[in-house]
Amino acid sequence: MTSFDLIVVGLGVVGAACADAATEAGLRVVAIEPGGIGGGATAAAMGHLVAMDDDAAELALSRYSLALWEEFADLPQAQFSRCGTLWIARDERELGMIDAKITRLAAAGIAASRVDAAELARLEPALVDGLAGGMRVPADAVVYPPAIAQFLVDRALARGATLMQGRRVGALRKGGVVLDDGTILHGPTLLTTGCALGELLPQLTLRARKGHLVITDRYPSVVRHQLLELGYAASAHGSDTASVAFNVQPRPTGQLLVGSSREFDSTSAAASMPMVRRMLARAVEFLPGLRSLQALRIWTGFRPTTADGRPYLGPVPERQDLWVAAGHEGLGVTTALGSARLLVDQLLGRIPRLDPAPYLPARVWR
Ligand SMILES: Cc1cc2nc3c(=O)[nH]c(=O)nc-3n(C[C@H](O)[C@H](O)[C@H](O)COP(=O)(O)OP(=O)(O)OC[C@H]3O[C@@H](n4cnc5c(N)ncnc54)[C@H](O)[C@@H]3O)c2cc1C
Repeated sequence: MTSFDLIVVGLGVVGAACADAATEAGLRVVAIEPGGIGGGATAAAMGHLVAMDDDAAELALSRYSLALWEEFADLPQAQFSRCGTLWIARDERELGMIDAKITRLAAAGIAASRVDAAELARLEPALVDGLAGGMRVPADAVVYPPAIAQFLVDRALARGATLMQGRRVGALRKGGVVLDDGTILHGPTLLTTGCALGELLPQLTLRARKGHLVITDRYPSVVRHQLLELGYAASAHGSDTASVAFNVQPRPTGQLLVGSSREFDSTSAAASMPMVRRMLARAVEFLPGLRSLQALRIWTGFRPTTADGRPYLGPVPERQDLWVAAGHEGLGVTTALGSARLLVDQLLGRIPRLDPAPYLPARVWR
């Protein structure tokens, strides 16, 4: 068979979620992935399911997705752990940001509470003394992203999807795609190729934003929440060429995952030791005990980044039957499930649960 209701190109967490949602809607799907399922940016991710409130559209998509993630709370291979997030304020200025954040989250239906310095120290005794306080978001969680991608693809396959793994889409053509071996597939096409989007669709370029993570040996209960400094959002949404922010996650294995760094203009996947040192120095300012823990591995990944920080979700202008779901920067695990629903609703002409306008590729098309 070479004709399908939907050709999904790329099986990171976003493509996997789209294949899942499309088969749930009854579409005959073929999914193409040259490498491992969830082996791109998805494999590099921390897997933090987090409500970020700095941009209204991003918060709406996160909120929608976080509700959908609840389905995975009891799934063993998801390694879903509801650790909650503790946002940390170092001083009175940062503490002053918290009430507005709580109000924005509450308006989106997400509970968060202010934590004073004493409570912060009680919740996370390993944090350095002298912090001003913080904000706790108890419903935030973590998952294991490549396992989620595999689960979503397996579910799509069980509903009759076709998987073409080890194959790559070499070119788009009217009404379909051409694979690298010359095979032609016919049908509406959805590009979920993450950072590689520009290879097939140069009009919608994404910048790859490199990140490093360090994982330690097992130290259960040193940290209980995902810990982030309030300055993390400035690092994530700023356009600095290179930045770091304190971001530590307790894995369900007892390991600590330590981030985060962001770099534009670095194309090498090799770990940069100056950047790793800068990132760890930042982390030690908040968690001094990290210095004595054994690091096991360092890796890097590339976040697919749009100019305005919002993903492209929707039809490609001027192109019949070409769709895109890509550009989720550092929130693609959190927002994959909502992105997929929003995309499939548009594809089927159903009224989406969210206004799709802020995410339409048309906003940057020229
Ligand atoms: C260090 C780091 C930490 C992160 N932490 C978090 C976090 O805690 N929480 C969070 O929500 N997000 C996080 N992210 C962001 C998240 O990883 C990404 O937003 C998300 O994985 C993007 O998924 P994707 O499916 O769009 O891309 P990818 O996972 O990169 O998948 C794209 C797929 O397309 C395939 N492909 C490419 N070209 C072709 C072609 N021509 N034909 C067929 N297939 C093709 C690739 O092989 C790849 O598998 C993090 C990212 C990084 C780098």
